[in-house]
Amino acid sequence: MRELERKEVAEIIVSQIGELEKEIESLKANTAPVEPDRAIGRLTRMDAIQAKEINDAVLRRAKLKLSKLSNALGRVESPDFGDCSICEEPIPMGRMRLLPESTRCVECATGNTGR
Ligand SMILES: [Zn+2]
Repeated sequence: MRELERKEVAEIIVSQIGELEKEIESLKANTAPVEPDRAIGRLTRMDAIQAKEINDAVLRRAKLKLSKLSNALGRVESPDFGDCSICEEPIPMGRMRLLPESTRCVECATGNTGR
């Protein structure tokens, strides 16, 4: 990976981490337990529980993504950052911009090596 690309991906990682931290904060605010006698307007208690489950799932995914991004940030300066861990070819920049935590190219990630 060229230095300019490395810098670009590092910036993407930092900005994605910032956005995720904000998202996680607001999701956490919504994870309070659903109280049985809570006044929730037109929502039924079942709706509230379902909404909370969805919120919790989104929160889990956000936390997982955050840990992958933090990990990627820790690797960004290493010489093999951006190389596929399977075929060792450079992962295309398009993918690194979209998913900077990628450790495999699309072919290896999907198991479609074409070989
Ligand atoms: Zn690969």
